[in-house]
Amino acid sequence: MQITVDLSRLLSELETLASFSDAPAPAVTRVVFSSQDLAARTYLRKLFSEVALELRTDAVGNTFARWTGSDPSLAPVATGSHTDAVPHAGRYDGTVGVLGGLEAIRALRRGGFRPRRSIELLVFTSEEPTRFGIGCLGSRMLSGTLSPEDARLLKDGEGKNLEEILRQAALNGSLENVRLAKGYYHAFVELHIEQGPLLECKGIPVGIVTAIAAPAALRVTIEGAGGHAGAVLMPDRRDAFLAAAEIALAVESAAKATRSADSVATTGVCNVFPGAVNSIPSRAVLEIDVRDIDLARRDGMLGAIRSACQTVTAKRQVRVQIDLINADAPAQASPLVTEALTQSCRALGIESMPMVSRAYHDSLFLSRIAPTGMLFIPCRNGVSHRPDEYAAPEDIKRGVQVLASVLAQLAQ
Ligand SMILES: [Zn+2]
Repeated sequence: MQITVDLSRLLSELETLASFSDAPAPAVTRVVFSSQDLAARTYLRKLFSEVALELRTDAVGNTFARWTGSDPSLAPVATGSHTDAVPHAGRYDGTVGVLGGLEAIRALRRGGFRPRRSIELLVFTSEEPTRFGIGCLGSRMLSGTLSPEDARLLKDGEGKNLEEILRQAALNGSLENVRLAKGYYHAFVELHIEQGPLLECKGIPVGIVTAIAAPAALRVTIEGAGGHAGAVLMPDRRDAFLAAAEIALAVESAAKATRSADSVATTGVCNVFPGAVNSIPSRAVLEIDVRDIDLARRDGMLGAIRSACQTVTAKRQVRVQIDLINADAPAQASPLVTEALTQSCRALGIESMPMVSRAYHDSLFLSRIAPTGMLFIPCRNGVSHRPDEYAAPEDIKRGVQVLASVLAQLAQ
């Protein structure tokens, strides 16, 4: 079967989608359930209906567009991604997987392919944590990782709760019905820009994701004693910032100590109080992100950081409180999908390489209910979440070709 991608149509759809934005072009700001996000959803539903896909939207706003297969009793094959965008982002993150997924379906139709399994295109609600402070809201709920009870507790920055916002978006279903059973999908595959520089550096057009690293986030609050920077002598100090500095160095050591390139740990936030040049810091708050593709190793780093906190507490006579903000488990890609991806690339004569996804994706959660995999295409200079985010048309085209071929393989 010949897979012909209508690249100019796809690029113009990406451009139209980017125009639903609260920031002037080339920046894209599209926060979930903002008026621009709702308008973008309407636009997407129109595109899906033009191809006669059967539409369904669940109670949290995840959208499903189904091409019914010749045997609808079989578990469908699914693809998709997200279309919400962090403030001042670009136009390719997530959208390439949604509109590329749509174009893959159209290309298969044009080629005369008839799937045995249904093929379903998903648009996940709120992959970005911008509004509710939690990433992958839609796919978390689909996979049962976030319960309806916990979802009901979510509030946005203005104090509006999730259900209120859903009702305003005319989503009146029950959150209890969002979860999909394990085995609901035969397989899930997501096309995404890499958001890192590796493919571009190596000159390879397709990355086949073998594992998705998962972050754990800690907030560490250190209480020491403040005082006048001139009057309190050094032996009498309980400087909260210096304790924080030792903990930040321990975070680095914890990652280096695993001797694995897949272990990373970052202290990205350090707030110091009262924050005056002539005051000894009385309090410091650190936020620490720890990632790995191996759960035991990731949790080992967390353990090392906790014990460093204890050591610093004793040494510097400070109080340290550790809050675990988030700790999702990493995921391994399913061989069913990675093998289909490898085979498709080979058949299409497209060079590929295995790689690890170090960013978060909806696939991380889909992997809990379905055999899951991802394919990455390069993005210029590895830049993402910025207005100058860019994926070359030829790379997008190759990504869609591979995706179409994999969907066909898996749906046969
Ligand atoms: Zn994304």
